[in-house]
Amino acid sequence: MNVSRRTRIQKTYEALFALEDVREIFRRSLPTGLDGGEEREFSEALARVRGIIDGIEDGGGELPSGRVCDGIEVRSREEDYININPIQAAGRLTPEARKAIISYGDGYSTCDHCRKPFRLDKIGRPPVEAFHRELAEFLSMDVARVVPGARRGFQAVTQSLLEKGDFVIVSSLAHYTEFLAVEVAGGVVREVPLDEDNKVTAEAVAEKIEKVKAETGSLPRLMMIDHFDYQFGNEHEVRGIGKVAKDYGIPFLYNGAYTVGVMPVDGKEIGADFVVGSGHKSMAAVAPSGVLATTEEWAERVFRTTEMTGDVTNRRFGIKEVENMGCTLMGATLISMIASFPRVKARTAAWDEEVAKSNRFLRELSRIDGTRVLSELPRRHTLSKVDTTDSFDTVAKTHKRRGYFLSDELKERGIIGEFAGATRVWKLNTYGLTSDQVDYAAGSFLEIAEGYGLKIS
Ligand SMILES: *Cc1c(COP(=O)(O)O)cnc(C)c1O
Repeated sequence: MNVSRRTRIQKTYEALFALEDVREIFRRSLPTGLDGGEEREFSEALARVRGIIDGIEDGGGELPSGRVCDGIEVRSREEDYININPIQAAGRLTPEARKAIISYGDGYSTCDHCRKPFRLDKIGRPPVEAFHRELAEFLSMDVARVVPGARRGFQAVTQSLLEKGDFVIVSSLAHYTEFLAVEVAGGVVREVPLDEDNKVTAEAVAEKIEKVKAETGSLPRLMMIDHFDYQFGNEHEVRGIGKVAKDYGIPFLYNGAYTVGVMPVDGKEIGADFVVGSGHKSMAAVAPSGVLATTEEWAERVFRTTEMTGDVTNRRFGIKEVENMGCTLMGATLISMIASFPRVKARTAAWDEEVAKSNRFLRELSRIDGTRVLSELPRRHTLSKVDTTDSFDTVAKTHKRRGYFLSDELKERGIIGEFAGATRVWKLNTYGLTSDQVDYAAGSFLEIAEGYGLKIS
């Protein structure tokens, strides 16, 4: 039996889809049971599932369609390849999250057992309320809410704290969503310059605060700093910055888009007033998802409830939180986050091993003459920026496929996720790869380099 891995993967999807067709029969039949026609249809649908399952093993049976439906192809990148895409690594779902999608995919599925006072974070079944408590505890904060992405967490904070023209301290490596969150609230960003190692220091933050004070006569209203930035994956001095924030009495938003869910984060110890994380980037959850956690002190302000009264009906919606538009993440998005959470919590304890693999990978990659790591070394994160201008790009210059030669070669070996066509400066993320996968990926880069006559040291 020599069935290709790709065929097996495609057939596995076909079997899952065929089971959905079985499931559909239940959905459109009477609760009292299947009638004659349905029973026949059911048998046929089940026989089809069996046929496909046999085919996973022996390669026989119908050819997989490779489609979810017309126009939508099956996405099997995570099964077919080793994916080193910089933003996708820690957002890959756990098996529990994938099962949650199957089960909770229907629109307002989380509302089945929603009871008074009718708010998402109060739902007891499935355990949404308990999850909120655990989330706060996980981050060492007092209160947590789920939000549709880290960006919506930033937005809830900026819209609650800023008035028009207020200044907000951000990093010179700040994510675009931090800019937008300030802009949507009418604020103005002021960037902290980087030091020579592309890091944001507490000292530079203090200097910038003084500058804003000198320029405007008042202190910035908020500071938002990334623990690890999205460009280099460098670690910034968040604890020192937390102290500066306290000294000046400026609220501090800790941006944990690249930390919450992969490494331990202790908001209190860091001195954060707000901790924001991204579910789809670092918590193995469906997009758009994220978390906003805060202290008792700030919760009332950021999670303020509606005070509006209808002029005709006199209606009020008492406990609905304004910034969260009442309820935030619904359905499979939220349940995927909850389903992944036990593993996510556990995996943060293995962060050192992830970092070790990241260092091992880059050590190997750096053996290719002319390859440079632009991120800080040794790595403290799994996201890294590399410069292969003097290695792979020298090949691209004369190759008929130009920069795409590298992605071609990698794909042939089952590796994807580097920016296709880029052979100068690009990013990668080794998070979640097994030791064998790390070695295999590193070995593949070396093999490709060797094949094109690049020097290996
Ligand atoms: C990815 C990222 C974000 C945006 O996260 P979303 O959850 O997609 O909104 C914000 N900040 C940083 C530093 C990021 O890397």
